[in-house]
Amino acid sequence: MVAVRPALYEGTRPPNVFTRRELVGDTVLDCDVVIVGSGAGGAPMAAELAEAGFDVVVLEEGSYYQTRDFTADTSAMVRQLYRDGGASMAIGSPPIMFQEGKAVGGSTVINGGMSWRTPEEILARWRKEAGLADMTPKQLEPYFERVEKRIHVAKNDPEAIGRENWLLKKGADAKGWEIIDNLRNQAHCVGSNRCAFGCPTGAKQSALVSYIPRALHFGARVYSDVRVEKITMHGKRATGVVGRVALPNGGSGARVAVRAKLVVAACGAIYTPALLSRSGLTGRPGLLGGNLSLHPNVKVVAFFDEDVTSWKGVHQAFQVREFVRDGIGTFAAVNLPPSVVAMSLPHRGAQLGKMMDQYNNMVVAGMLIEDTTTGRVRVTNGRPQAFYQLEQRDIDTMKRGLDRLCDLLFTAGATKVLLPFHHAAEVHDADEARRVLAQKIKPTDWEVMTVHMMGTARMGADRTASVTDAFGFMHDVDRLLISDASLFPTPIRTNPMETIMTLATRAAGHVIDNARRFLS
Ligand SMILES: Cc1cc2nc3c(=O)[nH]c(=O)nc-3n(C[C@H](O)[C@H](O)[C@H](O)COP(=O)(O)OP(=O)(O)OC[C@H]3O[C@@H](n4cnc5c(N)ncnc54)[C@H](O)[C@@H]3O)c2cc1C
Ligand code: SF4
Repeated sequence: MVAVRPALYEGTRPPNVFTRRELVGDTVLDCDVVIVGSGAGGAPMAAELAEAGFDVVVLEEGSYYQTRDFTADTSAMVRQLYRDGGASMAIGSPPIMFQEGKAVGGSTVINGGMSWRTPEEILARWRKEAGLADMTPKQLEPYFERVEKRIHVAKNDPEAIGRENWLLKKGADAKGWEIIDNLRNQAHCVGSNRCAFGCPTGAKQSALVSYIPRALHFGARVYSDVRVEKITMHGKRATGVVGRVALPNGGSGARVAVRAKLVVAACGAIYTPALLSRSGLTGRPGLLGGNLSLHPNVKVVAFFDEDVTSWKGVHQAFQVREFVRDGIGTFAAVNLPPSVVAMSLPHRGAQLGKMMDQYNNMVVAGMLIEDTTTGRVRVTNGRPQAFYQLEQRDIDTMKRGLDRLCDLLFTAGATKVLLPFHHAAEVHDADEARRVLAQKIKPTDWEVMTVHMMGTARMGADRTASVTDAFGFMHDVDRLLISDASLFPTPIRTNPMETIMTLATRAAGHVIDNARRFLS
């Protein structure tokens, strides 16, 4: 008989982590700072403020899992760690599927670990378009460095790199295109390629195993399974939050209220606008929830005659950066487990079985673009819904990117590539790919997804054109700080985690330096 793993939540956990098990009756807490959300924006804020001696409470809707809970059961991991089981969607034509984490550590628990500084051109754009005069590489340098130390940003060990990534490099090198080693927040990652389902070795330095333990060490309290409903206000001043225990069946349990001197909203670019809106804090009309960028992402499946065994090896070892100035952020080989590949193919029955028989010969390669489209998060009955109508110029960028990605893969030796269209056009060489891509493709036929949602509470110097100031303090509200991807004035062309953590570290420093103003 197969041994049954102990149920999650059994075993030890740090004494200042609380879960729905303890929160059986109504609870009232007092602290200096309450932080809602424990991901890339919330966790560094918690660690920095706790380390500076402030009494910090973190409330997280998701549950508290530990490295030992992360198994090879992909569908169980998706159900436990992803919001809505990974099936969220921005409405538009094409609809864009998006994924975000819901667990202590937020999306960093399920992300690939790519850790990049904000590109200089993007910072220049923020200075020019959003008036963020201090966002220079030099002024941000100490914060980038601090984050990179905390989450251990490093190149992958070469022995952890799998064949599919070497094929990507082979193709890029043969074309003479710029391809760089990925920097990731990991320490001697072994290349088990489970990053998107919880790192089972603890090598990936997600917020769960870096910032959260640091915050706990310095006395912060983390309450998982608590869904915050509202920010409480006294006049224009935020005074705390109220929420409910999130039950496993989706229902609500006991009430949790926190009184605090400073409130931090770090729920991510979809859920922060919802929390603010539920609290009646909508700011100037049209700004909150607007400016949604998504870095639309498309994938192809390439088939090789050789055994690629792309399930072995680190997640995304290299990035092709040749075309960034043409709006094409990166190409990467993104390894996916068989169940996820099978779900993404349009084939069914025996035909699908035949395709999946070739799993060992497949390379799944993805591409993200720096979008010019913006969408909006609308909040109805307290629930957010994203709307995003991909514009033709971004579709054209995707087509140009796919054309080059196919060229690279055929140069590396691919014999067939499936394109990301509803009917998965199958092409056998770069010319055929170019011909298919030159045709008109119905918007609804595209299969587009994303994991980078940004910009819905943008920061800026002009109060009439932004939701927060340059640190994330919401305009016209006292003691309410936003710390997550919603702050970005524009898309950032690269993976966003390190930028979010850097902005959080910088904002925490500002709070600490001005403690009498924000924390008295
Ligand atoms: C599969 C995947 C792969 C990715 N790969 C990379 C990568 O390699 N590199 C990179 O830079 N980025 C990557 N990203 C993106 C990156 O992880 C996110 O941009 C980043 O984590 C967002 O930070 P955040 O603080 O805005 O939100 P999150 O990290 O998502 O944290 C928000 C948290 O708030 C909680 N929350 C929301 N509402 C409430 C509420 N009302 N009450 C209590 N809690 C609440 C959520 O449950 C969540 O845990 C990836 C993302 C995904 C999903
Ligand atoms: S590839 Fe590396 S970082 Fe990702 S899950 Fe495996 S050991 Fe962890």
